[in-house]
Amino acid sequence: MHQHKHKINMKNTVLLTGTSSGFGATAARLFAERGWHVIATMRDTSKAGDLRSLPNVWVTTLDVQDLTTIDDAIADGIERFGHIDVVINNAGYGQFGIFEGLSREAIQAQFDVNVFGAMDVTRAILPHFRARRAGTILNISSGAGAIGFPMASLYSASKFALEGFSEGLRYELASLGIRVKLIEPGGAPQTGFMARVGGESAGVAVIEDYLPFMQHIGQIYGGMSAASDPDAVEKVVEAMYEAATDGKDQLRYAPTDDIQPLLQARRSTSEPTYQSLTHQLFVSTEA
Ligand code: NAP
Repeated sequence: MHQHKHKINMKNTVLLTGTSSGFGATAARLFAERGWHVIATMRDTSKAGDLRSLPNVWVTTLDVQDLTTIDDAIADGIERFGHIDVVINNAGYGQFGIFEGLSREAIQAQFDVNVFGAMDVTRAILPHFRARRAGTILNISSGAGAIGFPMASLYSASKFALEGFSEGLRYELASLGIRVKLIEPGGAPQTGFMARVGGESAGVAVIEDYLPFMQHIGQIYGGMSAASDPDAVEKVVEAMYEAATDGKDQLRYAPTDDIQPLLQARRSTSEPTYQSLTHQLFVSTEA
């Protein structure tokens, strides 16, 4: 019995947010299959499905907009599994739409979930990581965390914020043995992401002056979506696993093919070259 308990405590434990669907749900399964203890959190646990019945997985409530649920999920998870090694800030959504049509509430909500939610979870886990002089925080960003996308300026703003936060925080935590990493997926139409984008877009005011531009961008996005990496979900969750286990100090992981050319243009070419490329891609000459 004692030996059994000891063995259990030697396992690694990951806590993920947003495991009701998409990357989070698939990643929870992958870590469990590879022998990790998984604290699979979601704001509505009735969406857990078969995650609940998987060995090594414990499903619990965590709404990133509710501090009590964050504290409880972490404390109860530590009590159950002994410790937490990795936290994956995955919960997030895309509030797309022309900026001028967005309400102040919609803007606030996007940052509440994608930015302040990740910060609150991070603040809550740090005392545990600091005491252990170990731990990894994986923040799920996006290609939109490096590139400003039209009709997604707010979503890009939230992911840029997450990137700046992660990059700065990383230096603060390095001396304590704690790592901070970013995953930058490209488009993954297989998750619940686009359905939520559609739902949230319905609330955006239509301003007629933008209609020709919106049509232009709609066509470009249609093409980009068709060219998205068909293995995006697998690649993203494998990158999460790699980032959690590779022992490297690497900050960014961009596992899907579709976003590579733009990321490379952003990071490896001069600013004028990048601007001219994105101008060609996004700016409509017809109005
Ligand atoms: P998804 O299937 O819609 O999953 C998003 C998850 O976040 C869901 O579990 C959702 O829970 C959860 N969530 C939303 N608001 C929450 C809150 N207040 N508290 C806790 N959980 C909340 O989409 P996904 O593609 O897997 O998205 C996961 C992450 O990847 C997001 O951060 C997203 O920005 C990022 N990403 C996605 C793509 C893509 O194209 N799919 C590309 C780049 C980056 P509910 O079911 O309760 O809403």
